[in-house]
Amino acid sequence: MKRKFLITAIALFICTLFLNTGKSNAAETSENQSTQRYVALHDRILPFQDIRVTEGDTKVPLADIAKYLYLPVETDKDITIIRKRGIEFRFDPATGTTTKDGKVLAWSPIQQIDGITYISVKYIAREIGFQLEFFQKEKTIRIYRDNYAHMNHDDFQQFIHQYRITQQEAAKPKPTPDQPQSSKTKPNVYLTFDDGPNQYTTINMQTLKDNEIKGTFFFLGKHMQTHPSIVKSASKEGHYIGSHSMTHDKDLVYKSTEALLDEMKESTGLIQQITGKSTKLVRVPYGSKPHVTPDMQKQLAWQGYKMWDWDVDSNDWKYKDVEYEKIIENVKNGVVQAEKAGDRDIVILLHDRSQTTKALPDIINWLRHEGYQFKTYDPQHHIVQNFLHDKAL
Ligand SMILES: [Zn+2]
Repeated sequence: MKRKFLITAIALFICTLFLNTGKSNAAETSENQSTQRYVALHDRILPFQDIRVTEGDTKVPLADIAKYLYLPVETDKDITIIRKRGIEFRFDPATGTTTKDGKVLAWSPIQQIDGITYISVKYIAREIGFQLEFFQKEKTIRIYRDNYAHMNHDDFQQFIHQYRITQQEAAKPKPTPDQPQSSKTKPNVYLTFDDGPNQYTTINMQTLKDNEIKGTFFFLGKHMQTHPSIVKSASKEGHYIGSHSMTHDKDLVYKSTEALLDEMKESTGLIQQITGKSTKLVRVPYGSKPHVTPDMQKQLAWQGYKMWDWDVDSNDWKYKDVEYEKIIENVKNGVVQAEKAGDRDIVILLHDRSQTTKALPDIINWLRHEGYQFKTYDPQHHIVQNFLHDKAL
C-alpha cells in the first residue's frame, strides 16, 4: 500500500512539472504577440495588418491571404470551402472543425475570431505545395516555391531586419516643429548626382574628395556596364550608390510595373556585382510623379525598395558650361526655400554633366559657409523623400 502511494505521489509530482512547463510556454507565446509578426511571400512582406497567434501558430484573415495564394474561397450557408490542387477544405464555424477531403482534422487550422475567419499560414502553405522558412528573430514566416527566383536565406534575413527597423522608425512620434533644438542647427543637405557613371562623375568625385564630402550617386545600368571602374572608385571613396534604372528610357522604364521592377532589379544587381554592396535605393528617371502608377508604387514597396526624389532641382541639365552660375543660383534659392518650409533634410538634384562640374565647387562653398551639414544616404537611417509621400518607400 505504502509503495503504491509513493508511486502515485511521484506520478502526481511529474504531472505538476509538466503542467508548469506548459504554463511557462503559454506566457512566452503571449509575450511574443506584442512584437509585430510578418508573413512573407518570396521576396516581399505581405501587407497584413491583422496577424493573430494562437497556440504559437500564426494565422491571418483567410480573405487576405487568399488573394496572394490564389485560393478560391466559397461559402455555402455558413461553411467556408476552399478547393485547391484537387483538395477540398471545409470549415464549419458552428463546430469549429475543419475537414480535408471529408476527414475531420485533429486540430482546426481555420478558426473564427471576432467574426473573422483566420487560417494557419503554415498549414495552408504546406498543403498547397509551398516551402516554409522561419526567421525566429524577426518573427517572420516566409513562404516560397523553389521554382521562383528568390533571395537566399541570409539576404532575406537582412532584408526583413532592415524592414523592421524602417517600420519602427516610421512609427516613432515625429518632433513637433516648435521644439527649439531644431531651429538652432542648420538642416542637412544631400548632394545627389544622376545619370553617371561617366567622365564627369570622376571630376565631381574629385571635388567632393577635395572638400571631404561624401555624395549620393544614382547610376544608370547601361553606363555601369561600360564604366565599372568608376563605380568601384565611387564605392571605395565612401559615396553611396543607388540605381537610376538600366536604360533611362521613359518608354521602356514605365512601360509596365514589371518593366520598372526588372530595370531596378537588374541595375541594383549590377551595383552589388561591381561593388559587393547591396542597395535598395532607387531614383526613378524623371522623378516619381506622374510616372509611377499606384501599382508600381505598391510593388516597389513590397519588394523592399526605397525611392528618392528630391527637394531642390538645380536644373543643371538645361544650361551651357558658360551659364554655370545659374545652377549655383538655383541651388541657393531652392535650399533657402526648403529651409524656410521647415525641411531638415534637403536633397539636392544634380547631374554628372560638364556644366555641373563647374558649378559644384561654388555650391559646396556656399553651403559650407551657410553652415549646412553635408550628408550622404544612410540605409540605416532612411529618410522618406518621394513626391508621392509614401512612407513605405
Ligand atoms: Zn536622369
